Amino acid sequence: MIQTASGAGFGKTFSGLQGIKSIEDFDLKGNRVFIRLDLNVPMSGEAGALVITDETRIRAALPTLRYALEKGAKVVIASHLGRPESDEDRSKFTLEPVALRLGELLNCEVILVEEPNSDAPKALLAGLKPNQLLLLENVRFDKGETKNAAELANTIASYTDIYINDAFGASHRAHSTIDALPRLIAKRGCGFLIKKEVEALGGLLAGPAKPFVAIMGGSKVSDKIKIIEKMIEGIDTFLIGGAMAYTFIAAKGLGVGKSRVEKDRLAFAKELIERIEARGKKILLPVDHVVADDFLAPSKIEIVLGDSIPEGKVGLDIGPKTRAMYREEILRAKTVFWNGPMGVFERQEFANGSFAVAEALAGLTEKGGVSIVGGGDSAAAAEASGFAAKMTHISTGGGASLEYLEGAKLPGLEALRTVRESAAPSL
Ligand code: ADP
Ligand code: MG
Repeated sequence: MIQTASGAGFGKTFSGLQGIKSIEDFDLKGNRVFIRLDLNVPMSGEAGALVITDETRIRAALPTLRYALEKGAKVVIASHLGRPESDEDRSKFTLEPVALRLGELLNCEVILVEEPNSDAPKALLAGLKPNQLLLLENVRFDKGETKNAAELANTIASYTDIYINDAFGASHRAHSTIDALPRLIAKRGCGFLIKKEVEALGGLLAGPAKPFVAIMGGSKVSDKIKIIEKMIEGIDTFLIGGAMAYTFIAAKGLGVGKSRVEKDRLAFAKELIERIEARGKKILLPVDHVVADDFLAPSKIEIVLGDSIPEGKVGLDIGPKTRAMYREEILRAKTVFWNGPMGVFERQEFANGSFAVAEALAGLTEKGGVSIVGGGDSAAAAEASGFAAKMTHISTGGGASLEYLEGAKLPGLEALRTVRESAAPSL
């Protein structure tokens, strides 16, 4: 019997990890396993003395690496770092500090291969000892990476037996080591991080436990329109903060002073409030604000009560009453998704709103609820709050996690599917 593409859950519903093998499905022993990771960590300092300022992404890669090493694989790792443009940028965007840190965390020798597009790994792999692994230098040192070039993919494929993608944060890009390369390798699959990310984020799209509360903030409504539209049906309550709140407040005809407003999104914001309320759902806006006289050089910081903001003032965080109100809503939920900081959390004076949300999310998880954080800045705010460890899942994905929730197909996941959507599975 032949099934059609629309049968048995294929066709439209073909998504998530369907058709994708996991690293656990392969016999790794003695095989050359290429693992694409997202080790794009923030660094500070000058070239030659770079210091990793946040190693979350390195730690997130460890379960897959440890598994591969324990199973006796010959491991080659690759990652991008930043956006190097020319050869002069090499010393600024080297993975050397990452190699050192990985060696410490895994207690093994990490051999850095200077040229990502070279045959050097072939010979090195032949003599690789059990406590060694190879790390290719920043794959973006090869111009072919961002162009999804066949040449770079061919070089790597020539020494790869099994391909594993665990770079969730880079999987929304059709780049050579994410897209072209896995298509050349029959034995391909995902690592533990991608599995965890897709399961956590996918759970928000498919039947989250209710009530489901979304906390939306950050700098722009326009960045978040698609995700709001995609998730609107499932969500019971929206809590709005960050600069995004002022566009909603302005849409209601209230004063926002000098706060950041997207004038071309006022109509969307107004319509969204109406749509949410017409469905009997809630959208809450701040009822007080932390404001200053100036965005760049705030000298006079104060709390203003009420939903509007006085003339000449700029709103930079949600106020204490709003924090308490949002906390209550979060603790009443079963599932919470947070994207977008509640204020300019990079500055201590305006971080309280975001930290209060983080604390409430931790409280919810302790009660058995699900708390998921998506977005690069939101993840940074969650880390800075000190409550990150208590949340269900903080996506390492940034842009990739938002695109996934918007319903986009991520090239890095699509390239891994060994059962094609168009091909009818035969029984
Ligand atoms: P994410 O990366 O989590 O998706 P965004 O990139 O949308 O989040 O937004 C994060 C940025 O929004 C932060 O840099 C923060 O300073 C800024 N932001 C939050 N509140 C305000 C505000 N009231 N005014 C200006 N910028 C704000
Ligand atoms: Mg951001």
